[in-house]
Amino acid sequence: MAGNLGLITSIANRLLEATATTATQASEQVLAQLVDHFDLRYAFLRYSDHDKRTSVLAAEWPPRPDVADPDPFAVLPFASSHPVLALCENGKDLVTVHHDFDDGASPCPLVQRGPGGAPAVAAAPLIAGAMTVGVLGFVKGRSRKWKSGAINTLETTASLFAQFQARISAEQRLRHLVEHDDLTGLRNRRSLLAYLSDRLAVQRPGPVALLYIDLDHLKAINDSFGHTAGDWFIRDFADRLRDCAGSQSMVARLGGDEFVVVPDEPMSAHAAASLADRMCRTLHGRLVIESQTVTRTVSVGVAAGTPGRDDGGDLLRRADEAVLASKRAGGDRFTMASANSLKQRFRSDIERHLQGDIDHDSLLLHYLPEVDLWTGAIVATEALVRWRHPDRGVLLPDSFIGVAESMDLAAELDRWVLRTACEEFGTWRSRGLGQGTSLRVNVSPLQLTTPGFIGMVAETIADFDMADGSLCLEVTERAVVHDIDNTTRTLGQLKDIGVQTSIDDFGSGRAVLSHLQTLPVDALKIDPRFVRELGTNANDLAVVRAIIGLAEAFDLQLIAEGVETPAAALELMRHGCRRAQGYLISRPVTGDVMASLLSSRGLPMPFLANSKALTTEMT
Ligand code: C2E
Ligand code: MG
Ligand code: MG
Repeated sequence: MAGNLGLITSIANRLLEATATTATQASEQVLAQLVDHFDLRYAFLRYSDHDKRTSVLAAEWPPRPDVADPDPFAVLPFASSHPVLALCENGKDLVTVHHDFDDGASPCPLVQRGPGGAPAVAAAPLIAGAMTVGVLGFVKGRSRKWKSGAINTLETTASLFAQFQARISAEQRLRHLVEHDDLTGLRNRRSLLAYLSDRLAVQRPGPVALLYIDLDHLKAINDSFGHTAGDWFIRDFADRLRDCAGSQSMVARLGGDEFVVVPDEPMSAHAAASLADRMCRTLHGRLVIESQTVTRTVSVGVAAGTPGRDDGGDLLRRADEAVLASKRAGGDRFTMASANSLKQRFRSDIERHLQGDIDHDSLLLHYLPEVDLWTGAIVATEALVRWRHPDRGVLLPDSFIGVAESMDLAAELDRWVLRTACEEFGTWRSRGLGQGTSLRVNVSPLQLTTPGFIGMVAETIADFDMADGSLCLEVTERAVVHDIDNTTRTLGQLKDIGVQTSIDDFGSGRAVLSHLQTLPVDALKIDPRFVRELGTNANDLAVVRAIIGLAEAFDLQLIAEGVETPAAALELMRHGCRRAQGYLISRPVTGDVMASLLSSRGLPMPFLANSKALTTEMT
C-alpha cells in the first residue's frame, strides 16, 4: 500500500480540484492513471440509477474504438447484464470474478478474451451512507490472482469516487433548485437577474435586448379547463418558446404567464423589434384542449439596456411596462419600451452630482451587527456606506455604487470606506470594545483584480493595526466569477497578509459553486433572498440546507443575511446556522450606536424565549 500512497494522493487531489463541468474528464484521467500503474486492460466507473435499476457509464479507460451511437454499454440493466454489475447493485463488498463469460465475439470489455485467456474483473462498490451508488472496476487480460496493492488501491479509489460523486451531485442539485422554474424547467427570475447583472456589467458588450413575453388568455384557460390543463398549456408553450429562442438564448419563466427571452448576442433595439415581431408570429398557434380549439397568442414588451449603465431590474421593469401597453392594445403584438425610465433620470442626476469626484465629507458609514443567534453576542460588524446627496438626502449604496463603478470612482470609494471603517474599529478597540469581533467591509467587484489593491489593503491594516485577522473583506459572487483566476490569486494574497474573505450573497447559483473547493475564502454569507421567507418557503429551505451542507463540507464559516422574522431565525438555528444579521436583530446603525451595542453584553434575542420547542429539541 505504501508504494501506492503517491498514486492515491495524486488521485485524491485530482478529484478535489474537479468540478461538475470537469468531472468526466477528471474521472477518465484517474482511470488512465490506474490502468497505467497496474497494467490493466480496462477500468470503468459506473453510477447507479436505482429508480430505473440500471448502471450508467460515467467514465472508462482506455476509450473503446468505434463506439456505436447510442452506446450499448452506456446504460446497462443490473439484472440482465454482467454478474459483476448485478452484485454491485446493492452489494457492499469487493467482487472478483475469474469465470469465462465470453460469449464469442462480444464487444463488452468486461467479458472480452485477451491474448492470455478469459478476463479477470475486480469491482469495488461506491458506498455513500447506506447506499451503493456505483462501482469502480478493474479488468485484466487473463485470470491471475489480484495483488493486494491493486485491490487496496481499488477500494480506496472507490471510496474517493463515492465522496466525489456526493459532492458533485449536491452541487448540481443545489444549482438546479436555485436556477430553475419547477413547472417548465426554464430558468427562474433569480437566475435571470443574475444573468442580466453579468451581461450588464461594466465593459461587457451591448446593447442587451430583452423580450418580456406574456401568454395571453391563460386565466381563461385555467377558468374553463382547470389548472391541470393550464399547467399543460404553460409547459407546451415553454417548449415552443425554447425552440423558437434557440439554445444560446436565456429563456426564463418569471411565474404565471410571464416569460423572458434574452438573446445571447448584443442586439440593437431595432433588431430586437424584428425578433419580437417574428416571435409573435411563430408563437401564435392553435391547440386542442378537451376537444376544443384554443388560439394561443402572446403580448411582448421589448427593451434594450446598456452595460455599465442599466441594471437588470430596470431593464425588466421597462420591458414589463411595454408588455402592459401590448395587453392594453388587445394582445398578440409587441411594443417597444420607452428609452428613458424614471430610474434612468435618477441615474443621470447621480452622475451629475458625483461629477467625476467623490466629496468625502458627504460619505458616511453605518454598521450592521452580526450575532450568534444562540447567545445574541455580537461576533462581527459590517460597514455599509451611505452618501449624503445634496438634494435627495441620505442614499443607500445600491443607488450610487453602480454609477460610481461606471465612472471609475469605485477604487476611491472603496479606499475611503476601508480606511474609515478600520479607523473607527480601531477607536472602539482602543476603548476595549469589540474584542474578538471582526470588521466586515464590502469590496466592489472590479476592484478585487485591480493592480495596487493588495498594496492598498496591506497599508491600511498596517496603519490601523488590523493584521490580526480581524478584517474580513466581502466580495460578491459576481466579482468572483468575473475573473476567476485573478480573483483566486488575489484572495490567496489577502489570506497571506492576514485578511479574511467571504463570499457575499452566496447562492445566486453562479459558477462560483464549482470553484468553491479551490477558492481561498473563509466564509459564505447566504443570499437574503433565500433567508427572508424561511419558515414558510420549502424551496428556500432546501437551498439553505444545501448551502449549510456545502459550508460544512468545505469547513467555511456561514452567516445568514436578511433575517427578518423569528421563523427564519429559528429555522436557521434548527439546521445549524448560528451566525446571522438582519432587521430582526438590528437595522444598520451609526458608529456611535454600534459602539454602545459593542459595550453591552449582546443583543436581545426575544424570539428564543418563545421557542421552548427548539431549545428542547437542540439541547
Ligand atoms: P450587502 O453587503 O449584502 O449588505 C447587506 C445589505 O442588506 C445592507 O443594505 C443592509 O442594510 C441590508 N439588510 C440587512 N438586513 C436586512 C433585512 O433583514 N432585510 C432587508 N430587506 N435588508 C437587510 P445596504 O446598506 O443598502 O447595502 C446594499 C449593498 O451595497 C450591500 O449588500 C453591498 O453589496 C453594497 N455595499 C454596501 N456598502 C458598500 C461599500 O462600502 N462598498 C461597496 N463596494 N459596496 C457596498
Ligand atoms: Mg456585505
Ligand atoms: Mg449580502
